Amino acid sequence: MVLKIASVAALRIRQPEFEDFTWWATSPLDALYEEGRRQRDQGAALFNRTIDSRDDDVFHVLVRVTTDDGLTGLGAIGLGSRAMADAVERLLAPLILGRNPFDVELLWELMFRSTVNIGRKGLILEAISGIDIALWDILGKATGQPVYNLLGGRTREKIRAYASYLYADRDLDRFARMARGYVEAGFTAVKMRFGYGPYDGRAGMRKNVELVRTLREAVGDDVDVMADAYMGWTAQYAIEMIRLLDDYHLAWIEEPVLPDDLDGYARIRASTRTAIAGGEHEFTRYGFKELITRGCVDYVQLDVNRVGGVTEARKIWALAASFSLPVVPHSQNYHNQHLIMAHLNSPLSEYLPPDYRDGDTFLSELFIGDAVARDGHITLSDAPGMGVELNEAVVAEYLLPRDGGSPR
Ligand SMILES: [Mg+2]
Repeated sequence: MVLKIASVAALRIRQPEFEDFTWWATSPLDALYEEGRRQRDQGAALFNRTIDSRDDDVFHVLVRVTTDDGLTGLGAIGLGSRAMADAVERLLAPLILGRNPFDVELLWELMFRSTVNIGRKGLILEAISGIDIALWDILGKATGQPVYNLLGGRTREKIRAYASYLYADRDLDRFARMARGYVEAGFTAVKMRFGYGPYDGRAGMRKNVELVRTLREAVGDDVDVMADAYMGWTAQYAIEMIRLLDDYHLAWIEEPVLPDDLDGYARIRASTRTAIAGGEHEFTRYGFKELITRGCVDYVQLDVNRVGGVTEARKIWALAASFSLPVVPHSQNYHNQHLIMAHLNSPLSEYLPPDYRDGDTFLSELFIGDAVARDGHITLSDAPGMGVELNEAVVAEYLLPRDGGSPR
């Protein structure tokens, strides 16, 4: 059977209304003194406020690839932009139209090598990822198999998930209540975000400890607790901060510093006892080779829709396996679930419970069949392909025209 790629389209999805959250997280912007503090004082969730300030009406980009015999593949790129949608349609689509979607290795290298001057990481790699995920959806549908069966099959019946919606909160009772709610719902692991960094001094360090202590006391000793600094710290701060937290037996501390500070990662990991996680903002096998071989992380946290799609992600999973490192992807979306299922070195999935709408849970709303956790576990169907369909009603409500976004 020789299939041909007949069309590659980007769906531009606008931002939904978000609640005005009063909780927050550290972020790379914290280093910008007044700007970081101003954004933190506004209290909105990180992505919402970042997106608000842009002259760009596109919030998520979805990719839809069709074949000449009528198969449709779907890819999801998180947190997008008009530039990303244009990259899908104007830069990458012309390279692969008319080609066989089964030739994922060749098509991937064609897209990657054709955009080296403006690509390698970031926006172009996310656009390549969206297309590649859609191609794998097609491969599954063409063969009548769920994608995990094309990657290694089932490694277990269901995937253990951790509840990942605990932001820094001045209301510690609410923070503890939310955490207990996740445990009551069946989760055996939860993740929080730190609220304070180098610019909050010693008092901020004590408040970070207070958040961790509150969470540990709320969920007890038998629940795994993780904590995310979302690139908001420096290496020196992280070393001092994590030493104060070592006795709370966190399962990992995530993204302590900017993704390019690999020396900082390695220093932190060599100077503390708690496991270090990272990779959510890293790209391709080349990026992960550095992250892994330089001793930066104990947990590899790629996202299939950033690293280059399924074709590239499976190489990173194999690389991590050769170092006996677990891969715990960022976010819960369907493209990650198929790779988790097919790899024994993926013990856990992130899961943002849909109690609050944010960028990740909204992305799930755009699909029927995206991961849902029950009793702390995610199950995957045996439907062909990625096992999802567009939620046409939600997509229609938020779909933007192909050309739009007049400058302010
Ligand atoms: Mg993260």
